Parts: sequence; structure tokens; C-alpha cells
Amino acid sequence: MANQEDKFKKVISHAKEYGYVFQSSEIYDGLSAVYDYGQNGAELKKNIREYWWKAMVQLNDNIVGLDSAIFMHPTIWKASGHVDAFNDPLIDNKDSNKRYRADVLIEDYVGKLDSKIEKEVKKAAKRFGDKFDKEQFLATNQRVVDYKEQGDSILKRMGQSLEKEDLADVKALIEELDIACPMSGSKNWTDVKQFNLMFGTKLGASAESAMDLYLRPETAQGIFVNFLNVQKSGRMKIPFGIAQTGKAFRNEIVARQFIFRMREFEQMEMQFFIQPGTQKEWYDTWKEKRMKWHLSLGLGQDNYRFHDHDKLAHYADAAADIEFRFPFGFKELEGIHSRTDFDLGSHEKFSGKKLQYFDHETNKNYVPYVLETSIGLDRMFLAVFATSLQEEELENGSTRTVLKLPAVLAPTKAAILPLIKKDGLPDVARAIVKDLKWDFNVTYDEKDAVGRRYRRQDANGTPFCITVDHQTLEDQTVTIRHRDSMEQERVAISDLKRIIHEAVDMKTWLKKMD
Ligand code: ATP
Repeated sequence: MANQEDKFKKVISHAKEYGYVFQSSEIYDGLSAVYDYGQNGAELKKNIREYWWKAMVQLNDNIVGLDSAIFMHPTIWKASGHVDAFNDPLIDNKDSNKRYRADVLIEDYVGKLDSKIEKEVKKAAKRFGDKFDKEQFLATNQRVVDYKEQGDSILKRMGQSLEKEDLADVKALIEELDIACPMSGSKNWTDVKQFNLMFGTKLGASAESAMDLYLRPETAQGIFVNFLNVQKSGRMKIPFGIAQTGKAFRNEIVARQFIFRMREFEQMEMQFFIQPGTQKEWYDTWKEKRMKWHLSLGLGQDNYRFHDHDKLAHYADAAADIEFRFPFGFKELEGIHSRTDFDLGSHEKFSGKKLQYFDHETNKNYVPYVLETSIGLDRMFLAVFATSLQEEELENGSTRTVLKLPAVLAPTKAAILPLIKKDGLPDVARAIVKDLKWDFNVTYDEKDAVGRRYRRQDANGTPFCITVDHQTLEDQTVTIRHRDSMEQERVAISDLKRIIHEAVDMKTWLKKMD
């Protein structure tokens, strides 16, 4: 655990030191759970957004984009169920006065059981060597089976109690599991209460005529209320999807995990409109498609898993999370929800307008069902950034810090370095920058010895360093150093564009989804 905590602290400090993520309003001591993205963070975030957008909108001829406003008519949030049901169960510890999400305390307890299982697996893998069969071990080792059953039954009971709004039982569960406040170690808990997560605001100049509004807690409703506008103007035929990225706001009860849980964050959502009755098939299809998108980035298959929901949200008939191994354990990264006709049906009722689709083949009108994929851009950023940050032991005994970002997402693709600051080398290096910048984000760096500059670019996540030396003046070649392998090769300046392009081209990476 201490190790995990250290690693997470390293992630946060590296993100600040290299211009990826800053605490919001830092000179005023910050604003809790709100963050700003620096010069590198803004690029990485933009690249992740683009990677998602291309996979969703450009590569699917039946999915189109949308950019709806953050402010929406307040009745939308009544229709969507957010006014009545967008609550989290909160619990306070009376000794530390710290506030927690009751469900998260319980999930963390189960997370510890999962870590125990992982430990047993590691031990056994060591003991059995090549003969180790993980699936068989998980199914037959009594200790592991017990941990798993215990975890499953805890989550099931919690899910059922939350669904029935039986908050007394959620508290009873916390007490039975002997869960202590992580800050104080005390088990002196208040009752569990519901807390609505929406931020309210006002629209209008005078106090009397001002209208109460909410900042949207998800981008999805902007898609639902525009369903017919897009369907008609784009002459879309079911099945089709609408995708959008944008800010969402939630007054999270506990927000202590850096950009994992923020009060202002960005979502990338896609609502896929389908014929009622086909939802199971589309649910399976989108689970698979989204997992392939994740795996295409090469962060390691072992870092992902599906988790099927025991407690379904008020709108869903099936839901699964894609969980990722964050520095603090496996947690939700993306949700895939089968939302039935809940949202469109409800907007029909509240608005009095028909939101139906006319199917020319069957000559019938119906309210489409919806399959949704919803991922947090900031969470994806954290997944990519934390996994990429590595400390490596080198052959000479030293260590290097390297940010092995997938090259397609890296903010800067290449750094151009004159070996020394004289003999005309800077001029050649600057000419290379001038040429490459039309195609890629590149940077020029002449300060310090070249070894130090390599390390700086490693820590910054730059996939290539291109060094101009005296030989360059004679034969128009440079060395290109690869960040991950640290190998260097001598190549012609005229080949640089092709080499970089092959490594960072979105097309090449996205094709790995096939
Ligand atoms: P959690 O259980 O972690 O609160 P959720 O189930 O409420 O998440 P959804 O409503 O399904 O989340 O939102 C879809 C996605 O939006 C999540 O998978 C996550 O990546 C992202 N997300 C949700 N809340 C936050 C937040 N406060 N900060 C950053 N990202 C968030």
C-alpha cells in the first residue's frame, strides 16, 4: 500500500513539474477537486479527445457529432431523474469529522479482498512457474474462492440496499465489516444520508425573474433532447449514434483522488439509438468495441477488466464498467449502459413533444432504445499518464524517469537538439524544426549537455530526440533516439518526417482495433 501511495504521489508531482496538471487557483491555496491542465496536459488531453472522436465519429458512418450547451432547461433534469435520484449516500465519521461516500468505503473494503487475491496469485505463479494455470487457480484455491465469494456477497447486499433506499442497512454493513475511518481509525459513524450532486445556478439579470438552473452533471441529456433534430436534419436511420465531448459538473462528496474524481470534468459520451428488443446484442457489441479501443493504446491488457453492475441506475436494464488499474487499485474508467427508452420516453412526457422514430420498413413509430458509452476524459488522462510514468534501472546502475506515453498521444513528438551551441549546428537544428512543425508538435532544446536533455525529454514523454552534430554538416544525417529503447540510429534528415509519421500516426494506432 505504501508503495502504491508513493507511486501516486510521484504521479501528481510529476504532472505538476512537467506542465501536465496544476491545482486550480493554486496561488489562492487551490480549489478542492478542481484542476487546470498545463502546456503539456492540454495537448495530451486534446490528443485523447481526438483519438476517441476519430474512433467514434470518423470511423463509424452511422455516428455523428454534437456540441450542445452546458445550460439546459431545468425541466430536463426532472425528466432525466437527476433532481430526484442523482444522489450519493454519504456518511460522516464523528471523530475525524471527515465525510465519505458510504458505497466507496464498502467498495474499498472489497478492493482489499481483491488485492489479497492478487497476492495469492502472484505467490502461486512464483511457486508453480511455467506450469501455473491462473484460471484453474482462481477457480479452485479455497482461500481465493472464499475472498471472491465474500466480496461478491458484500457488493450484492450493498447494491440491493441502495436500490431499495435502505440506508440503515448500508450503515449496518459498514459496521458489520468493521470499517474504520481511513483518517482517524475510528468506527464512530453517523447515519447514512442521501446527497444530491447537482450544482445550482441562476439565469437572468433581476432577482425576481431569475430562473434556477443546474450545471449539467452529464453530457448525455444534450444528446437526448436533440435526438429528433439530428435524426431529421441528418436523415439518420436507426441504428445510429450521436457523440459529444464536453464539461460536466458534480458536487462530489469526496474528491481526494487528484483528477480521478473532480467537481468539474469532461466526458466523452455516445448514445446509440436502436430498435427496442435489440439492446442485448448492441450492449455486447459496444462492450467489445470499447475494450478494443482501450487495448489499441497498448497500456497492457492486464490493466483492464469488466465489472457488471449489481445495482442498476434508474434508467438502465444492463450496465458494465470498464475498470482500469489506477495507482490506487481497479476503478471505473468507462461505463457502458443499456438505457432502454427511459430518457426519450421521459422527455416525451415532460415536454409533451413526440420523440419517436418512424420506421419505413415496418411502417411503425416507436421510441428508440439507447445504448450508451460514457468515459471521463480526465480519468482516461490519469490512466494513460500514471501507467506511462516509469522508473527504470539502467545497466550502469543509475535510474531514469521516463514517461512512456503512447506516441500517438504524446504532446511533443520530437525534440531537435544541436549537439553543441556553435559551429552552425543550432542553425541546422532550427531549420529542421521549421520544416517538421507543419506536420508535428516539435520542440528545440539547446540548454545543458545532450545527456541531460535526453533525460528531460524522457520525463516529458517525447518519443524522439533528433541530434544534429558535426557529421550532419557533411552528409545531411542526424541521430534519432527512441525514448523507450534509448536506441539511436543515424538517418537522413529527409527521412525524419516518414519515421516520425509512422510512429505517431493516428491511423496506424486506430487500426489496431480491427
Ligand atoms: P463513479 O461511480 O466513479 O462516481 P459514475 O458511475 O457516477 O462514476 P457515470 O455517471 O457513469 O460515472 O459517468 C461516466 C464516466 O464519467 C465515468 O466512467 C468516469 O470516467 C467519468 N466521471 C464521472 N464522475 C467523474 C468525476 N467526478 N470526475 C472525473 N470523471 C468522472
